[in-house]
Amino acid sequence: TALSHIRNFSIVAHIDHGKSTLADRLIQMTNTVAERDMKEQMLDAMDIERERGITIKANTVRIDYTALNGESYVLNLIDTPGHVDFAYEVSRSMRAVEGSLLVVDSTQGVEAQTLANVYQAIDADHEIVPVLNKIDLPASDCDRVAEQIEDVIGIDASGAIRVSAKTGQGITETLEAIVHQLPAPQGDRNAALKAMLVDSWYDPYLGVVVLVRIMDGVLKKGDQIRMMQTGARYGVDRIGVFRPAMTTVDELGPGEIGFITASIKQVRDTKVGDTITHDKKQTDKPLPGFKPSVPVVFCGLFPVDSAEFEDLRDAIEKLALNDASFSYEMESSAALGFGFRCGFLGLLHLEVIRDRIEREYDIELITTAPSVVYHVFMKDGEMIELHNPADMPDLSKVDHVEEPRIKATILVPDDYLGDVLKLCQDRRGIQQELTYAGSRPLVVYDLPLNEVVFDFYDRLKSVTKGYASFDYQMIGYRQDNLVKMSVLVNDEPVDALSMMVHRDRAEMRGRAMCEKLKDLIPRHMFKIPIQAAIGGKVIARETLSALRKDVTAKCYGGDATRKRKLLEKQKAGKKKMRQFGKVEIPQEAFISALKMD
Ligand code: GDP
Ligand code: MG
Repeated sequence: TALSHIRNFSIVAHIDHGKSTLADRLIQMTNTVAERDMKEQMLDAMDIERERGITIKANTVRIDYTALNGESYVLNLIDTPGHVDFAYEVSRSMRAVEGSLLVVDSTQGVEAQTLANVYQAIDADHEIVPVLNKIDLPASDCDRVAEQIEDVIGIDASGAIRVSAKTGQGITETLEAIVHQLPAPQGDRNAALKAMLVDSWYDPYLGVVVLVRIMDGVLKKGDQIRMMQTGARYGVDRIGVFRPAMTTVDELGPGEIGFITASIKQVRDTKVGDTITHDKKQTDKPLPGFKPSVPVVFCGLFPVDSAEFEDLRDAIEKLALNDASFSYEMESSAALGFGFRCGFLGLLHLEVIRDRIEREYDIELITTAPSVVYHVFMKDGEMIELHNPADMPDLSKVDHVEEPRIKATILVPDDYLGDVLKLCQDRRGIQQELTYAGSRPLVVYDLPLNEVVFDFYDRLKSVTKGYASFDYQMIGYRQDNLVKMSVLVNDEPVDALSMMVHRDRAEMRGRAMCEKLKDLIPRHMFKIPIQAAIGGKVIARETLSALRKDVTAKCYGGDATRKRKLLEKQKAGKKKMRQFGKVEIPQEAFISALKMD
């Protein structure tokens, strides 16, 4: 296809503003997919994505569109994940396209993820077409939202397209805007091959599939290619495009987006952002690379049934094949036995992986408290990256500890502003900005990631009845007074419950933790002390009193069936418990104990 007849774009939006529905409508109204094959949310492939209504991996579709001027165009849509955990994935797929549709729900207006995502598009020098969605709803207020887009984002929204992705109204106008308002890609067909490695994933039938955007040159089946950063060389086996089903083509030229397979063994062998060129005739100007996504949240994953450790290893290795941003290493815990310490891009990423292990591989897991990565500076000058609070070195050897900080952007209706400020303040936040986005307060806070990682988002939703929106980015490390708090159950330290806390909040956290554990741990035949300690010093304590009656006592000896049933129940319950010394702790305790109220 001639460059002048290609348009590459992405859709940016806050969650639920209608990105997937709009993509569906664009696919449907251009007859890209036969009507009988059309199912909702074509681009959200994984079950978990559909259930949670989020897009995790970037997906791509090629749309053929005959415009009203009679000309035929190829439109490539790269779908990007909308969630904060995947901000890096958004930024890299944006580099592969020239424009964005900015979808804003016209009943809601600009939200935090609208801002985060549109700034990424602006950073990538995109031409941006504003689209006001959900105009079929009575609460739609396009004039107000257009004004808000101009005020807050500073782009012209006077020509914003008014759309109902639900009814199909405004879809032709959207397609015309893509053709006439977004720029065509540039590139030189005769230059040496220069292609961007946009994404890669493991396909059970095809092996590693690589999504590429051709900048210059032409890529054909059988070509010998070289990945410029890694130096790896491969022969191209297969080349194709997504319609959205994988369809092979003979070649990809400048401006085009498609996939290749090349008997690559592992997703890890492909570096996102790498430049692909021909081995024989190399480009002399590789693309600037991307920052790789680094895991920011770590937690331990242990099988509830220790006999399933090898199954867990297998599951984790398979998932890691497909997700280069997920890291893992073996870990052994005195309390939990063998498992893995895993690194994630954020909490949602953690939940997605954990869910997949439990669902797709049918392994019940104990998840230890998520922790951020601390920088521990030792007195001898060494710096240790601490992924697991249990590994915190002895305080006497530690000079100081630094923790990761984020810049959080929150949009909230006036009524809840006070609650949001209080929440941020309680989480050791430092206010950076308090302005108005149209009529809504926009709050920017510098917050410790550790205070956000666990339940900040849930708390924010609950104090604002769901009306606040939130987004964040990492801004670096800062020193603070951080210590490791250990938890002892029946005088035995439970390493999986130890956590890093701010010294000033340690007593409060310790007390809350002991109280929670007292409720979560079932009573035993003996008294159980539950303590929180820093170094050797106990800072909080609760006692779980002894249980006298055994579970079958109320069966009056008579009903054998009932007695058996109760014992079976008890046994099943036990499976979900882990033994710590003489005490059994239910798996929920590891997560619940850390939730702050
Ligand atoms: P995404 O999170 O941005 O991908 O949003 P979705 O496309 O999943 O849409 C979120 C919800 O809004 C879904 O329940 C859609 O059915 C609904 N929705 C999307 N577009 C429209 C629209 O134009 N009108 C109405 N009434 N609902 C819409
Ligand atoms: Mg979606």
